[in-house]
Amino acid sequence: MLVIHCPYCGPRPELEFRHCGQAHIARPLDPSAQTADEWGEYLYLRENPKGMHAERWRHMHGCGRFFNALRDTTTDFFVTTYKCGEPRPALPGTAPAGGQR
Ligand SMILES: [Zn+2]
Repeated sequence: MLVIHCPYCGPRPELEFRHCGQAHIARPLDPSAQTADEWGEYLYLRENPKGMHAERWRHMHGCGRFFNALRDTTTDFFVTTYKCGEPRPALPGTAPAGGQR
């Protein structure tokens, strides 16, 4: 069984968690100022990488809180987890990630 580290509770079995999509998606401050294409991009377009991905997760059957994780989609390996609001950590040997919106 896969063990996921909740930044609030510690390591727990994967059955307690729910994947909630891509991390670091910020709602536009003024949605009425968005064009239809910009709004559609915000609502529907998400990255789908093969490899490292910043994702939002929720500890559904634990503390109930959301957090972010860096996970390799090819191996299902969680590199790290971090609290929402914290910047995406840089991977060892790479430049700091600039993927936040
Ligand atoms: Zn938790």
